[in-house]
Amino acid sequence: MFRSARLKLTAWYLFVIMLVTISFSTVVYVSVARATQHALVTQWGRMERQFSGYGGPRGVPMFDAETLNEVRQRTLWVLIGINSAVLVISGTLGYLLAGKTLKPIEDMVGKQKRFISNAAHEIKTPLTAMKTNLEVTLRDKDLTVADSRKAFTSTIEEVDKLSKFTNRLLQQSKYQNGLAHYTADIDLEKLLQKVVERLKPLADKKSQTFEVRDGKALVKGDRDELSELFTNLIENAVKYSETGQTIKILLSVEKSCVLFMVEDSGKGINKEDLSHIFEPFYRADKSRTDSGNEGYGLGLAISKEIVHRHKGHISVESVRDKGSKFIVRLPKPPHSA
Ligand code: ADP
Repeated sequence: MFRSARLKLTAWYLFVIMLVTISFSTVVYVSVARATQHALVTQWGRMERQFSGYGGPRGVPMFDAETLNEVRQRTLWVLIGINSAVLVISGTLGYLLAGKTLKPIEDMVGKQKRFISNAAHEIKTPLTAMKTNLEVTLRDKDLTVADSRKAFTSTIEEVDKLSKFTNRLLQQSKYQNGLAHYTADIDLEKLLQKVVERLKPLADKKSQTFEVRDGKALVKGDRDELSELFTNLIENAVKYSETGQTIKILLSVEKSCVLFMVEDSGKGINKEDLSHIFEPFYRADKSRTDSGNEGYGLGLAISKEIVHRHKGHISVESVRDKGSKFIVRLPKPPHSA
């Protein structure tokens, strides 16, 4: 599809360039023909005047009709040569340029295709589980009330998964709208305390402790989005750390920005995965996520969009089996301390 689009775009580039050069060449050719014709006529006139009184020979003209034709022919060949060179050079350059022009669109379409296929896969899994569950229950002639309760509970779990997933998808598409203009001042210290309080039971389940160092920090932003950002990063630290480990959370104000950092000493991320983990549906270690750590690979993609909407920057430092550090920098509101 993109190959034919590239060829079509190249043809359009060539059409425009050749239209210009051929028009220009025509003008040059006509001008040269006219100029030589004019020179010939002027020369004959001058000679007529010079020799009309003497009655002798009129001399030899510098230009005659043959020379004029030769000049025209040469001009024509030079112009054909130039136009052929322009055709070849601009064809090659046009093809390269068309490739460059279409590359971002090709990448975007590829990303969208992957997104749709991943989303469809995530939806298909719980749907299949639900269908199997219901079919088995329906076929069982000796079904007890306890059995049917079990089957329904399991179906509801799958429905919950589906609804959680669609909510994540909606968030992802909502936040993809690019930069936003925020006017509200958000007290990040208070917001962080709430998020930490809400996630404490999750950490308690794994006997993990939060070591929080925070201070007064204001940013212009959206409370729900920033709460989502803090939640995603802290939840991941809990999810990907071992039992009993400590998770360090830092909120501080720097010279020109507000710094938020979550550091764990968990499993870490492989070097080759680091550049991909902010892509939707990317999971660094599928076997690990399959073995207990549920997730769709959307949390970091959503976090990145939120940071981007707040004109901030998110980065990660991680060493396999040593731990990870997620660093978020958000711009300080103007005139704040
Ligand atoms: P998921 O729902 O799978 O956690 P995320 O987008 O939040 O999706 O994260 C993407 C992947 O990045 C995860 O599957 C995991 O492999 C890796 N990851 C994220 N945070 C951490 C962390 N703190 N420690 C180790 N790996 C992490």
